[in-house]
Amino acid sequence: MNPEFPPAPQWNPQTRLLRAGKAPAYAGGTAVNPPLVRASTVLFDSTAQQREMRGRRGDERIFSYGARGTPTSFALEDAVSELEGAYRTRLLPTGLAAIGMTLLSYLRPGDHVLLTDSAYQPVRHMARQFLQPYGIEYSFFAADGSDAEAGMRPNTRMLYAECPGSLVYEMCDLPALAAMAHARGALVVVDNTWGSGVQYRPLALGADVSIMAATKYLSGHSDVMMGTVATTQAAWAPLAERCDAFGMAVSPDDAWLVLRGMRSLGARLQMHGQHALVVARWLQAHPAVATVFCPALPSHPGHALWQRDCHGTNGLLSLELRPGTPQAAVDRLIDGLQLFGIGASWGGYESLVTQAHMAEARSVTDWSRRGPVVRLHIGLEDPADLVADLARAMDQAGLA
Ligand SMILES: *Cc1c(COP(=O)(O)O)cnc(C)c1O
Repeated sequence: MNPEFPPAPQWNPQTRLLRAGKAPAYAGGTAVNPPLVRASTVLFDSTAQQREMRGRRGDERIFSYGARGTPTSFALEDAVSELEGAYRTRLLPTGLAAIGMTLLSYLRPGDHVLLTDSAYQPVRHMARQFLQPYGIEYSFFAADGSDAEAGMRPNTRMLYAECPGSLVYEMCDLPALAAMAHARGALVVVDNTWGSGVQYRPLALGADVSIMAATKYLSGHSDVMMGTVATTQAAWAPLAERCDAFGMAVSPDDAWLVLRGMRSLGARLQMHGQHALVVARWLQAHPAVATVFCPALPSHPGHALWQRDCHGTNGLLSLELRPGTPQAAVDRLIDGLQLFGIGASWGGYESLVTQAHMAEARSVTDWSRRGPVVRLHIGLEDPADLVADLARAMDQAGLA
C-alpha cells in the first residue's frame, strides 16, 4: 500500500484522520530547514521494496525503522560529518553514551586502553564500572602525552585522548601520538567536545574516531542532550554494527534542535572566545589568582600546540586561587556571583561557574599542593558586566 495514498471517501473519520496530512507533493519552493520527521514505523510500497531496503541498510543509510534513524537525524549526521571531516557519524542520547558506545564498539576482553589523565571525569567512573569487570585493562597517560609511548602494552588496542583536556585544557601533540599509536596497531579516539569541530578537528590530525557532546556548543542553548561519534571510513563498521545491535537512536526533535543550534555555532564560538579572553586577562592581573588556564594565553603550557592545531578558543577558562585559600572563601566567591549560574554542562549562551576538584580528576599529575580551581564558562553577556560581577564577588569573598 502506498503511504502517500490520500484518504479515500469510503473510510470512516478516524481512518481518514490517520491517513491525512501525508504531505502531497505541492508546487512551490522548499523550506530552509529539513522537516522534523517523528517515526517508529516506516511503511514500504511492497514486500519487495521492504526486503530490498532491509538488505541494504547494513551498509547504506536507509530510512527503514525509527531506531535506524529518521530523515531528521540523518540530516544532523551529515552536518556533524561535515564539521568533523568524517566518513560518517552516529548519534547517541548523551555525550557520555557516545563515549561508552565507542569503548564498547572497539574493545574486547583482554584488550588494554590507554586513557588520557585529562579525560572528562565520568570516563574514570565508566572505566571502573564497565571496563574492569568486563576484563578490559586500562591505565592513564599524562595529559601532555609525554609518557604515552611508555604506557603502551602489547595488547593496547586504543589510545583515548581529550585535547584540550577537561577542566584545565592540557594540550597533547595529537599527530605525534596518533603516529605512535598507529605504528603499534592501536586505534586513536579523541573527545572533541572542547573543539566542536570548529576549533579542533581530530580526524584531520590523525585520529580515527572523534566524539563530541553535542549537548554543549553544538546545541548551544542548554536545553538538549546529545552525543556524536564521527569516524574515518576504515573505522566505521564496528561502531555502526554495535550501535545497531544495541538499538541506539536519538529523538528526532532533539536532532532537529541540535541541527538548528549548529547553524550559529561558528558565530557563537567566536564571541565566547573574545569574551573569555577579556575575562582571562582581568583574572591574570588579580592578586588572589595564582593561575588562569586557557590555551590561548601565552602562559599556558600547551599554548604552542594550541597555536599550531586549534582555531580560536571558546568560552571555557579556569582559575586557580592562591594555594591555601579556604574552601569557605571559594564558596563565597561562587555563591556571590550574580551573572554566573552555578552548574555544569557548559556550551550554552549563558555564563556558568563550578568548582573543579582537580585532585580527584587526575591520577597521573599531582594536584594536592595546588590552590582550589574554579571553572568558568563565559557566555554571550557583555564581558564588562562579567568582569564587574567577578570583581565584586572576589571582594565580598575577601579575596584580594
Ligand atoms: C559534557 C562532556 C561530556 C558528556 O556529555 P553529556 O552530553 O553531558 O553526557 C563528554 N566529554 C566532555 C569533554 C564533556 O565536557
